[in-house]
Amino acid sequence: MAVIIDGKKLAQQIREDLKIKCEELKQKGIKPRLAVIMVGDDKASQVYVRNKSKACDEIGIEFEEHLLDGDIQQKTLIELIEKLNQDDSIHGILLQSPIPRHLDINEAFRTIAPEKDVDGFNPVNVGKLSLNQDTFVSCTPYGVMKMFEAYNISLAGKNVTVIGRSNIVGKPLIQCCLNKDATVTVCHSKTKDLKQHTQNADIVIAAIGKSKFITADMIKLGAVVIDVGINRGEDGKLTGDVDFDNVYEKASYITPVPGGVGPMTIAMLMNNVIKACEN
Ligand code: NAD
Repeated sequence: MAVIIDGKKLAQQIREDLKIKCEELKQKGIKPRLAVIMVGDDKASQVYVRNKSKACDEIGIEFEEHLLDGDIQQKTLIELIEKLNQDDSIHGILLQSPIPRHLDINEAFRTIAPEKDVDGFNPVNVGKLSLNQDTFVSCTPYGVMKMFEAYNISLAGKNVTVIGRSNIVGKPLIQCCLNKDATVTVCHSKTKDLKQHTQNADIVIAAIGKSKFITADMIKLGAVVIDVGINRGEDGKLTGDVDFDNVYEKASYITPVPGGVGPMTIAMLMNNVIKACEN
């Protein structure tokens, strides 16, 4: 039976620490402020933005929301980002994805000033991560790394298999694990014999988006299993990418869904806003 990595509790501790840092900044006359841009009315994004706003409130970070119509032109989005870049009262800028398909999200990420890019999606910050330089690491991978740290799980020399290669989760995770001296294997939808790669892993990180896809037979006895996936079933219940009940019997550490990586993501966003402010 595995130790359950309690992301909710860890995130709460991080938020408490950030509250103190935020108060210290305010005493120096600096008010940390996050600007969030949302384009269109994606329901899931509305929930995510609401949660970010609540977390800011709790810590004492000022929050401003910019809601843009789904049919805006690229120029409008870019001009807003440029305006926020120049506004000295704003320390962090976040563009909530997804945005409507007619817009170029890459240009938008490129436009966010690297020093305000609290999501770590600007290519400058992505490049710095790949060079193992201090930067804003995107929040979900950063949250996973914090979990390893908090539970004293060393990555050096370990075989880590990351399943998923998205720009926001899989790829930065690969880089983070490499920066910690792991031997990293990357799997994705075109990988042949996925099981061979997961069975060989001391640490498996699943970021796929398929409910209960990683089953106990795919995992080595005593492996650490990190579940990034968030899947909502027809009954409204959340499940991860890992078949928790069965993998739990075999793993040494495991993250639950909900209550695992999810809360860490928001905590690390808050961390990045305070960091941007301190910088
Ligand atoms: P994505 O759809 O961009 O990427 C999914 C990846 O899974 C792709 O690289 C794809 O190649 C891979 N994949 C798909 N089918 C596969 C298969 N059969 N075998 C091996 N690999 C396969 O998704 P994403 O944005 O990276 O998110 C992944 C999951 O993580 C989703 O469930 C998402 O909701 C969740 N997520 C959670 C958090 C959090 O805070 N916990 C944050 C972001 C994303």
